[in-house]
Order: sequence, then structure tokens, then C-alpha cells
Amino acid sequence: MDKTLFPGYTVGPDAYDDIGAVCSAYGTKVAVIGGRRALAAARDAILKAVEHTPLEVIGVFWYGGEASRENMERLRPQVEQADMLFAVGGGKAIDTCKVLAHETGRPFFTFPTIASTCASCTSLGIVYHPDGSLREYSFSKIPPNHIFINTQIIADAPDIYLWAGMGDTMAKHYECTISSRNDTPAHSDAMGIALSSLCAEPIVHWGRQALEDCRAHKITPELTEVILGIIISTGFVSNFVQVDYTTGLAHAIYNGFTVLPGTEAHHHLHGEVVSYGILVMLTIDRQSAEREKLYRFSRSIGLPTCLADLHARPEDLGAVTAKALSGIDVRVYPYPVTEQMIVDGIMEMEQYHQSMG
Ligand SMILES: [Zn+2]
Repeated sequence: MDKTLFPGYTVGPDAYDDIGAVCSAYGTKVAVIGGRRALAAARDAILKAVEHTPLEVIGVFWYGGEASRENMERLRPQVEQADMLFAVGGGKAIDTCKVLAHETGRPFFTFPTIASTCASCTSLGIVYHPDGSLREYSFSKIPPNHIFINTQIIADAPDIYLWAGMGDTMAKHYECTISSRNDTPAHSDAMGIALSSLCAEPIVHWGRQALEDCRAHKITPELTEVILGIIISTGFVSNFVQVDYTTGLAHAIYNGFTVLPGTEAHHHLHGEVVSYGILVMLTIDRQSAEREKLYRFSRSIGLPTCLADLHARPEDLGAVTAKALSGIDVRVYPYPVTEQMIVDGIMEMEQYHQSMG
């Protein structure tokens, strides 16, 4: 038997007004788990929204700083009495709470405080070791019951999260369509692939204005479109498609750059490096019109378009390509990807960048 579940969502500056009506069906006792900055941003608004409802918050807990097994085990006794969990944060705090909810059989609700990843919409949990290195994917078919997207809190957050989140979101469309190209997708995969078109075009269209509005802490239709693209469109695609379609060459290239001390030392964000990976991926895939469109967009908002933007040099590429192909990202791909292909793609991008002035 195959079961598919969908999260509901509420979006707007008053999104938390829905908490009582939506969550009361699942019990009364709530444990809130979040990141430090996320809780500082959302805690009071959540507590206030819960005040005149049947719900009772039995505790507010810091997730521990890493989405690790250790933190999940530490939190387990603290949520013992709770009927449901509220996950508050960006990526890792949400995933910590999500895996805990899955493993303890509790419903969970998410409260994204930044728009940087689709973690608050997905059923997949990503678990890390305490040192921050990847431990495992925690697979589940159970997404959050509902996502409360308070656009004012997201508009008040640092705009770099939205900026990098746009890169990661656009990758979802290109990776999903390229990775699945040689297959005949079954219904669920096909739905995800079709939906993925909402992860690229709207970002290119609204992205620049959305970023300006986020800098001004102003909720506008453009900012709301981009927030929904990053959290909802991308999350739904992820929930619909098989794992090999959620990743591809842009993420392989991201993984490659994680070995470079220069890229790490300058704290380049995940989605930022991924956005550069899309440009190389499109170069290798010979999609020159799409590449030009994305290149112009990336340049317009300061996303990286050449090696120097990532504090990387051509002589680093050996290490980058070896690491890039060590994961599962291009395991399902319409053609075999070689290290030489990636080097050539990156060098061709360097030339293209030069030619664009
Ligand atoms: Zn990503």
C-alpha cells in the first residue's frame, strides 16, 4: 500500500491566528522545539496565539544546535507528555523536531522563521553527527500536519537566507527535470516534476524585488511569492519525487566545493554554492538559453557566477571534482558524469563569465 500525505499551510503576517483551529484537533499539550534565534523571533507570537485556545504549551526547548541523534535522544524525555510538537526554525531545528515526531509517533507542526530551505514542508529528515558532518537521511512519508508561515517574521530575518534559499530552490527544478530525463516517471514522480517548474521561473521573475523587500522588512506580493517558492513549491516536489530526482549535478558540485578551505573559510552558504552549480550543470547539459537567463539573474542579485566569487581557483578543481562524484547525487542521470566533464564545464563557465564582462 502506498500512502501519500500532504501538509496544509497558512501564509501571512497573521498566520499564527490559525494555530488554535488547526492544532486543537490533535490534543491539547504542546512542546515547542526550536533554534535560539528562531525562538527569539517567534516564541512570544506563538504563546500569544495559543492563549485563548484549548492548547497548552508544556515547554519550550532549544533543539541543541545540531540535528543530531544525541540531541533527539536528549529531547525525547522532555516531550514525553506532549500530544504534539511545534518545530520552529530554518532547517536543522525543524529536522530535529521532525525526526523526533516521526520516531515517537506524534503529529508535528512547523513554524519557519527564515525562508532558506524546504525543511518545514518535507517528510525527509536530515541527521548530522555532533561535528556537523552528514550522518544519514531519515526517510518517512509523513510531512508536517500544517505549516504556519508568518511572513512578517521571515521579512524581519537576515536577507542572506532568502538570497541563498533562492539558489537551492531553482536547483530543484533543473536537477529534477535533468535527473528524470531518461525515465518514464510514475504518477507521484510526474506530479513532482511538473510542480518543479514553480521552483525556477517565479524565482527569476520575483527574486530581485523580493530580496529588496526582505532588506526593507516589508511584506509584499513579490516577497510572499518567493517565500512560497522556497518553502512550499520546493517542499511539495521533494515529497512527491524519489530521492534521486531531488538532487543532481548542482548539488554534486556543491559537495565538491565543501572540501575547499577558501570556500569554507568565507562561509559561502549552501544555496549560494548550489546556484553556481546550476550554471555549471546547465553548461554541461548544453542548455545555453536557460544558462543565460540564470546567469543574468544571479549576477543581478550577487549570487556567484565564477570561481573567484567562491574563493576558489582553477588549480583546486581536482579536489572538487573527486568529492563531487563521491556521493549519490548523479547516481541517476541521463548520461555518465565524469570528473573531466565537470572541470571542462567549470572552465567553460569561466570563459563565459569573462565574455559577459
Ligand atoms: Zn540543497
